[in-house]
Amino acid sequence: MIRELHEKLINHEITAVQLTEEYFARIEKQDKDIFAYLTLTKDLAMEQARKVDAKIARGEEIGMLEGIPGAIKDNLCVAGVRATACSKILDNYIAPYDATVVERLKEAGAVFLGKVNMDEFAMGSSTEKSAYGPTKNPVDLERVPGGSSGGSAAAVASGEAVWALGTDTGGSIRQPASFCGVVGFKPTYGRVSRYGAIAMASSLDQIGPITKTVEDAAIVLSVIAGEDKMDATSAQSPAKDYTRYLTGEVAGLKIGVVKGYVEKLNPDVKASFEKVVAQYKEMGAEIKEIELPNVKYSLPVYYIIMPCEVSSNLARFDGVKYGMRAEDHKDSILDFVPENRNLIETYLDSRRYGIGAEPKRRIMLGTYALSSGYYDAYYLRAQKVRTLIKQDFEKAYEAVDLILTPTTPSPAFKFDEKTNDPIQMYLEDIFTITANIVGVPAISVPGPAIEVDDKQLPQGFQLMGKWFDEENLLRAAHAYEVHPVK
Ligand code: GLN
Repeated sequence: MIRELHEKLINHEITAVQLTEEYFARIEKQDKDIFAYLTLTKDLAMEQARKVDAKIARGEEIGMLEGIPGAIKDNLCVAGVRATACSKILDNYIAPYDATVVERLKEAGAVFLGKVNMDEFAMGSSTEKSAYGPTKNPVDLERVPGGSSGGSAAAVASGEAVWALGTDTGGSIRQPASFCGVVGFKPTYGRVSRYGAIAMASSLDQIGPITKTVEDAAIVLSVIAGEDKMDATSAQSPAKDYTRYLTGEVAGLKIGVVKGYVEKLNPDVKASFEKVVAQYKEMGAEIKEIELPNVKYSLPVYYIIMPCEVSSNLARFDGVKYGMRAEDHKDSILDFVPENRNLIETYLDSRRYGIGAEPKRRIMLGTYALSSGYYDAYYLRAQKVRTLIKQDFEKAYEAVDLILTPTTPSPAFKFDEKTNDPIQMYLEDIFTITANIVGVPAISVPGPAIEVDDKQLPQGFQLMGKWFDEENLLRAAHAYEVHPVK
C-alpha cells in the first residue's frame, strides 16, 4: 500500500496535501462511530505534506514514507501535542519533546494525522479502559478492536491512517491487529528506541508498526529502528532496509509449532490456524513440533514482573511533575476534602482521582510484590522463571528458525464481555506475552477469517523470530501474505 501511494506521489497522480486531506475527510466522516482518534494534528500534517510537495516540485527524490499519512499512539510524545496515554492524570499534558521514533518519522517525511486511543497507560486488551471511552472495531462496531493499541489498529483497518505506531508490552500491537484484520509487528527488545514512550513496564515495552501489509510494516520499521543514545537498552545495530528481505519465499525455513498449544484451542481458531500451518508446508517450509515446557508460566510471570515495573514507572505521576493536580479540579470532584492540604494529600488526591481502576490494581499488586519480605518470593522468583522460559526459546531456536502460533485465543469479542473479569481479559495475551518475556520479535498477520453470527471476523496468526532476526520473520510473514490460504 505505501509503495503504491509513493508511486502515485512521484508520478504526480496525487499530491501529499491531497492525500492528507483525503484521510482527514475519511476521519471526519467515520470517526464519530469508530473513535480511533483522540487528537488531530491537522496543522502539523498539512505543513509536513506541503514540504513533501515542494520537494517533489523541485524534482528532488523522496523516501518511501515521505508524504504518507499515519497515526501515533497517545503514549508516544510528539513535541507540542497532547500526550495523555488515555489517563485523566495526563489530561492536560503537552509533550515538550519528540520521542525518538517520532523524530525519525519526521526526518523521513511521514505525515502525522493525530494521536490515537488506547487503554489507560497501555493496560488492557480491548481499549475499553481508555479514560476517554472505547474505540470500536471497524469490522463490527459491536465488537472491541482489541488493545491496548486499539486506536492504532482501528485507524489502519478503517482507512483512517496508512500506518500507525503502537506499543506492545504483552501483546498490545499484535492482539488488536489480529482483531481488526491488519498486520501488527513487535520488534526485538532493543531494536527500537523507547525514548519518549510513556513507560508501562520497561523490560517488556517495545514500539512497533501496525499496517495493512507486511511490506508496510518493514518500511516503517526501517525508519524507526536502530541505536539511540537516549535509550541505553537500544541495541547497537544499525538500521537496515528490511524490505530487501521480502522475497516471497520460505523454502528451507524451519518453522516450529508448539506441542500442546493447538489441542486446547477453540475449534474455529484451531481450524484457521491449521490452514496456515498447511499453507506454510505447501510453500516449502519445514514444520517441526517443538516443546516449550516453561511457557505455561508466562502469564503468571508477566503478572508479577509487569505490575512491579508499573508501580515504579507510574510513581512519577503525582500531580506535581506532570499533568493534572487534584486541587485544580476540586469543583468537579464531589468528595474533595479541602482541609489540611499538604504535599502528601496532593499526591494522594491527584493519584486517587487521576488514575483509573486498572492501573491502580496493578500499582497495588506491584507495590505488594516488591515490598520487603515479598521481593524474593515474587519478583525474584518470577525473574528466575523468566530465565527458564528464555532458555526454552534458546533451545527451540537450535532446531527451528521461527515459531508459529495463533495470535489470540478467539476473534474480537463484544463490548463488556470481559470487563468484569480481569482474568478473562488477561488470558487474551496467552500467546503474545511470551515474546515480551523473552524479548524476541513477533508479528501478527491476518489468517483465514472466522464466521461468527454470520459475520467474517478476522483472526491473526503469530510468527516469532530469533532475537534480532527481523529479516527471516518479515520474510516468512510476507510470504504468506503473497500466498494466502484460498
Ligand atoms: N493486555 C496486556 C496487559 O493488559 C498487554 C498490554 C500491552 O501490551 N501494553 O497488560
